[in-house]
Amino acid sequence: MQVKLLDLTAQYVGLRGEIRKVIDEVCDAQAFVLGPTVERFEKHLAEYCGTKYAIGVSSGTDALLCALMAIGIGDGDEVITTPFTFFATAGSIARLQARPVFVDIDPGTFNMDPRKVEAKITRRTRAIMPVHLFGQVADMDGIGRIAQKHGLAVVEDAAQAIGAKRDGKAACAFGLCGCLSFYPTKNLGGFGDGGAICTSDEGFAGQCRLLRVHGTPGNNPYLHLELGGMFRLDALQAAVLDVKLKYLNEWHEGRRRNAAMYDRLLAGSKVKTPAIEAGNWSVYNQYVVRVENRDAVKAKLAAGGVGSAVYYPMPLHLQKCFLGLGYRAGDFPEAEQACGEVLALPVYPELAEEQIRYVAKVLLEATGS
Ligand SMILES: *Cc1c(COP(=O)(O)O)cnc(C)c1O
Repeated sequence: MQVKLLDLTAQYVGLRGEIRKVIDEVCDAQAFVLGPTVERFEKHLAEYCGTKYAIGVSSGTDALLCALMAIGIGDGDEVITTPFTFFATAGSIARLQARPVFVDIDPGTFNMDPRKVEAKITRRTRAIMPVHLFGQVADMDGIGRIAQKHGLAVVEDAAQAIGAKRDGKAACAFGLCGCLSFYPTKNLGGFGDGGAICTSDEGFAGQCRLLRVHGTPGNNPYLHLELGGMFRLDALQAAVLDVKLKYLNEWHEGRRRNAAMYDRLLAGSKVKTPAIEAGNWSVYNQYVVRVENRDAVKAKLAAGGVGSAVYYPMPLHLQKCFLGLGYRAGDFPEAEQACGEVLALPVYPELAEEQIRYVAKVLLEATGS
């Protein structure tokens, strides 16, 4: 049996007619950038995330960059974040000449450990950027309390966690804003790149909209009030995403059902299944286990026809481009250990039960469980 890590075709075949129709509508209107199609999607997205506003942008990376620019992060500022995440989280900070200040993760959830945050706050700290990794909301009570005490902005990197909840509240609604990615592998994936900033702060939303189009107010394209970027979302992407958004909760349920099945099948074995904190409703963008001899296990899965992936093989503080920050191996032991043990299994909603049973069987054999 072959089980891919992710099969987007399975989702597309069911929506082919509906998606082709809205693509045709954009083609007929020949209005490709921002405009009413994007505005309609932004309205639905804000409703979905429980925020007042959503600002569609060109990618998840640009959502993070634009949000930090809108706060006014710049030269000499510090932003506290996690070293165990996709590069864009820290990259967006560093691109503004600000300094990513890392704190280690909780080994159970892989998310930023709030108990380690306060020691990293200096007079230059401006913001905290937690990541809701693999679809589970970070400890936003702990992080929010520290941010409030020290007057820091919280920017949620919710790229992997659209629709995820903690104590009934959705990702993006905890901090000043949440940043989403619509990269095709995310739970809500477009037909290319896309992203969004969700916020309930009207002034901040306005600033993001301004910076999205080179600091231009809506009514005058040759007036530049601020130095921004070109962070616009395409109408074709918005049209596709607006269709898919209607099915997103169903897909989350499918991922959660698959995750629960893995939890049961792998219980009591040498495979460490994901730890979900009480009160958290994960959307399982990835189902990530820990195993010993990870690379050998991954090779055995591949030999058995099972796709898997390592998110992430190297923590950000050891990346070449960040050597200038002065971090060393050993600085964040939990993140470093996770990099050597994690393995993401296929969890996409369209998987059949027999496929999940097969993946679990091959994994149990590969780990000698
Ligand atoms: C995917 C992702 C991003 C960036 O999204 P792009 O749309 O690919 O630019 C940022 N942060 C995290 C945690 C992600 O997983």
